[in-house]
Amino acid sequence: MAPKYNRILLKLSGESLMGDRSFGLDPKMLERYALDIKAVAALGVQVAVVIGGGNIYRGMNEAETGIERAQGDYMGMLATMINGMALQASLEKVGVKTRLQSAIKMEQIAEPYIRRRAIRHLEKGRVVIFGAGTGNPYFTTDTAGSLRAVEINADVILKGTRVDGIYTADPEKDPTATRYESISFNEVISKELKVMDMTAFTLCQENNLPIIVFDMNKTGNLTAVVNGENVGTLVK
Ligand code: UDP
Repeated sequence: MAPKYNRILLKLSGESLMGDRSFGLDPKMLERYALDIKAVAALGVQVAVVIGGGNIYRGMNEAETGIERAQGDYMGMLATMINGMALQASLEKVGVKTRLQSAIKMEQIAEPYIRRRAIRHLEKGRVVIFGAGTGNPYFTTDTAGSLRAVEINADVILKGTRVDGIYTADPEKDPTATRYESISFNEVISKELKVMDMTAFTLCQENNLPIIVFDMNKTGNLTAVVNGENVGTLVK
């Protein structure tokens, strides 16, 4: 069976890389994600990844950190580069060819973000990791994911989370909550469901880029999603 999607953008949160830890990186999680990505790449799927930085630094909380928002946001973007380098190392360790591109110039460690070059890498079967978010403060890595996905003409953005989709209510609080298999962009807005921040979400909606929210922590789920199986929630 041919995969349903030819080119995907996978958005991973920084926090997911912590595993059971309260900060930083868990090598076990990195290895798992690397193997999951390797499996879909082996199907011939072109894989781009945007990674968050929340396990290391979030700039948003000026009141708590005492560091002004824009400065903190740049620190958060640097955190995504640490995660990007870690994921790159893990992927290469399991034999996957990668390129890391940064939205902020860091010539010694990453290519600068160049859209056409990223596409070329993908066509050659390299996994492309986009680091440093959008390169701009006041944005999130979800927005970076949507933006890059639209730019590279990805078929879908896959938001890997710790829950297995979008529910009618919070499944931890309401035992009758059920998972949506599929839902429209407008329904997500009218029901005030949380998928991504609004900037990221509307960018997908305006460009008809479907989003799949799924549980990345279940091994094999990424492959299932790419094969079009009923995993997670499809927003379209
Ligand atoms: N960030 C930013 N601009 C971007 C992407 C990220 O300023 O385009 C900063 C922001 O401070 C954010 C931090 O980087 O809090 C880490 O990213 P995010 O919180 O999105 O990571 P995740 O929640 O996915 O781990």
